[in-house]
Amino acid sequence: MSRIAYVNGRYVPHREAAVHIEDRGYQFADGVYEVTAVRGGRLVDEERHLKRLDRSLGELKIAQPMSHAALKFVCREVVRRNGVRDGIVYLQVTRGVAPRDHSFPKDAAPSIVVTSRRTKGAPQKSVDEGIGVISLPDQRWARCDIKSISLLPNILGKQQAREAGAYEAWQIDRDGNVTEGTSTNAWIVTGRGELVTRRADSTILNGVTRLAILDIVARQGLTFVERPFSLAEAKEAREAFLTSTTSFVLPVVLIDGEPVGDGRPGELTRKLRAAYAGQIEQ
Ligand code: PMP
Repeated sequence: MSRIAYVNGRYVPHREAAVHIEDRGYQFADGVYEVTAVRGGRLVDEERHLKRLDRSLGELKIAQPMSHAALKFVCREVVRRNGVRDGIVYLQVTRGVAPRDHSFPKDAAPSIVVTSRRTKGAPQKSVDEGIGVISLPDQRWARCDIKSISLLPNILGKQQAREAGAYEAWQIDRDGNVTEGTSTNAWIVTGRGELVTRRADSTILNGVTRLAILDIVARQGLTFVERPFSLAEAKEAREAFLTSTTSFVLPVVLIDGEPVGDGRPGELTRKLRAAYAGQIEQ
């Protein structure tokens, strides 16, 4: 089945899909995006993704490209036309095409691109045995709550992790606290059994998976706290894990090469992954 992309009102063959060279996404990374998981042909947590998209667009004063109903329709159609049952939908909105000038153009219409592809998710070995992260300084801007397509520090961090043989890089703020991974949220379970993740302020992206896990945690009556935690605290933790749309919940068993707890995936981590998997497979 040949791949199809949606670009500004048209479904086109993926290999021919293109936007103009003066699209502000291409020129300035002046745009936002969402990645939504597809399970059994269904979009996981679609409402939360749309809500976050609205927020990102609003914060950057980019006009809504279309109504939620229309966006949902297009996403479903792209999933369907690509024959995706398990995978992702990628949706990007930029401020549109205009002669290159830093200030906002007066009459540009936002550009929208939607693609979808099958993905396998994290390898079973990562789920069973856990993954390693490295730490590095958080070099990003002060509005990490906006899901901007400007991702240079994130891709540099991820590449550094890959070159170190790690799955992810945990970014560290000036106070020595973990903000988040380059494309994932960070969690620990302390020695006292306290589940901790950073509060969703402007220093992190408020992950849709993060919110889903917080819901599960609240429903199960588990105690948790949203507060900063330091790299040192993470290294001393009983368990650590990360969350994202594409990784779901993955145990972190090595931080900078040092084992977390006994170096094996933690019990609460496994429980939360199972609960989340159960929820999205429904
Ligand atoms: N933080 C960052 C920086 C990300 O890019 C992502 C992935 N979009 C996440 C966290 C996780 O968010 P979500 O659970 O919505 O995929």
